[in-house]
Amino acid sequence: MASLADRSVTAETEDGAFRIVTVRTTDTVSACLRAHGLSGPSAVHLAEVITGTVLVRLAMAPDLRVQTLLRGRNGKGTLVADCHPDGGSRGLARQTRGPVDVGPGSMMQVLRSLPNGELHQGLVEVPEEYGLSGAFMVYMLESEQVTSVVGVGCAMDGERVEAAGGWMVQLMPECAEPPVDALYEHMRAAFHDPAAVLRGCDADPRALLEGILRGTASRTVSEGALEHRCRCSATRVLSSLATLSTADVEDILAKGETLEITCDYCQQAYEVSPESLRGLLDVS
Ligand SMILES: [Zn+2]
Repeated sequence: MASLADRSVTAETEDGAFRIVTVRTTDTVSACLRAHGLSGPSAVHLAEVITGTVLVRLAMAPDLRVQTLLRGRNGKGTLVADCHPDGGSRGLARQTRGPVDVGPGSMMQVLRSLPNGELHQGLVEVPEEYGLSGAFMVYMLESEQVTSVVGVGCAMDGERVEAAGGWMVQLMPECAEPPVDALYEHMRAAFHDPAAVLRGCDADPRALLEGILRGTASRTVSEGALEHRCRCSATRVLSSLATLSTADVEDILAKGETLEITCDYCQQAYEVSPESLRGLLDVS
């Protein structure tokens, strides 16, 4: 079987009842987990946070950036997803005292850019049931006032990501009597275990869409490629140092060493020479 590439599909049913977004994020999350050497429960949770963030972006504002910050239960670690309009996503995990524990007590914050440059923020607690799929459902309802069914999952085979992806079925506010009960019943019966569903179809967004629609007439609104992509560069690393005080920079310069800075997201190492540091002093 030819392997698929990471993609998203957004479709609407012809009756105007639902908008459906499906995504395959297998390669995106594989690359991200590899960069962090992450495995176990934290790896699955980070994969789910990235996938959910991609879904929120595609559903609410495909042309703008969305970030999610998840704090583990009992202060155990943080997971971050950063998803951009070009389809590129990156993530990071900070584990403290063991794997990032997700459930009641862990808070999920979603930050979505608005067209005027301001940030829309929503903070929800991860519910008892349905894990991060449930957290994104609560976020959509409470912060975006959109009733939806969300599934995010990551099927692992040992350390390897077998299939990752998800779906969001949104209720369209224009539809007076949407067949909600039938949808919920179908989703509960056939889509209650996201990892198993994704494993069964290699997270193919078209197959997921067809499985959700079951023959209901629909039209594709948009499709796009997804991938793991960091935004770091030597210039950005240097400009991040611009917040250092003159005294701090002079201190580093006095030691005469080349500074090594590693990107938190992709672990790429950057070397900052004393010359370029001195340039910062000249600017400030
Ligand atoms: Zn980076």
